[in-house]
Amino acid sequence: MSDRSYKFETEAVRTQLERSQFSEHSTPLYLTSSFVFDDAEDMRASFAEEKSKNLYSRFSNPNTSEFVEKICKMEGAEAGYAFATGMAAVYNTLAALLSAGDHIVSASSVFGSTHSLFKKYLPKWNIETSYFKVNEPETIESFIQPNTKILYAETPTNPAIDILDLELLGNIAKKHDLILVIDNCFATPYIQNPIKYGADLVVHSATKLIDGQGRVLGGVAVGRADLIREIYLFSRNTGPAMSPFNAWVLSKSLETLSVRIEKHCENALKVAQFLEGHPAVSSVKYPFLPSHPQYKTAMKQMKLGGNIVAFEIKGGIETGRAFLNKIKMCSLSANLGDTRTIVTHPASTTHSKLSEDERLAVSITDGLVRTSIGLEHVDDIIYDINQALS
Ligand SMILES: *Cc1c(COP(=O)(O)O)cnc(C)c1O
Repeated sequence: MSDRSYKFETEAVRTQLERSQFSEHSTPLYLTSSFVFDDAEDMRASFAEEKSKNLYSRFSNPNTSEFVEKICKMEGAEAGYAFATGMAAVYNTLAALLSAGDHIVSASSVFGSTHSLFKKYLPKWNIETSYFKVNEPETIESFIQPNTKILYAETPTNPAIDILDLELLGNIAKKHDLILVIDNCFATPYIQNPIKYGADLVVHSATKLIDGQGRVLGGVAVGRADLIREIYLFSRNTGPAMSPFNAWVLSKSLETLSVRIEKHCENALKVAQFLEGHPAVSSVKYPFLPSHPQYKTAMKQMKLGGNIVAFEIKGGIETGRAFLNKIKMCSLSANLGDTRTIVTHPASTTHSKLSEDERLAVSITDGLVRTSIGLEHVDDIIYDINQALS
């Protein structure tokens, strides 16, 4: 062991399980549902948690532990638990910590399925959610009630790429004794660490940039040890655990996270700069463009601008659809954070069930295009977008 703490990139590469008897260099895959005990006393002590030993892979597994330990180091978190999907992480975090009658204050712009949880499912247990608009953070405190327990947000937001001030959210949560939960999926731990600004818990869909290659689903929640303990005890009974195989894939993915994100962001900034000068485009949203409405906040809390570029095509819904039809190389896909560049038109696809007023309330205009910029050569990405715009 080193006599000093390693930097982010080194932890991502060097955090590793103890080697087995085979002296492997790369962590092996532990495809086992359960573990064995030496004798009755070993088994008793392990179940009593007097020993830290794997019992059953719904509770823990060496591969998921390695993945979680890496994410904890990257986010500056005390503890964590890995889930089969990002939504399992969001749902089990909320369900473990909330009781009937509790209340959530959330940013209005959250991931679609998270929105459905707030609107359709949590009310079954009398848990209601109030929403503040992302461009009106000064109103947040007016939504807090005596039964409010959780303050919830994502930044950058999907799909409009607004930025919420993490320091402000952290201060409000502290003042009102709320649990601040941040979905850090769009930024990744390489770009921003919400715990530094007062977040109690950070959740991720590892399906996106953490895998980064469109292969596996995964999710993780990390943060305060006392809260993670509650989430762990709940989840070991409800059963949303990440599979060892996915954990093994995702732990390997983390080794290349920093270099992938650097390149994603370099490409995304170039695409954003190109679009800003394009006559068919009325506006571009990218956190590291000075024209972004929350540019200062982005510069304060983000190391890079991320890989998502949103822009507005002149002309509305039909022009947006025509743009998608003309795309040749980039993929039309619901995923994001892949090596392959993906373009989507939220108004005619993911958010088509909302009324125009509902869409506008979360900044989804008819001509909004969301791009997840990949790792192809940037000249080819720009060439494809340009030919589809003309
Ligand atoms: C995709 C996504 C999720 C859900 O993750 P899954 O792995 O698809 O379940 C949650 N939050 C954000 C911001 C996402 O982009």
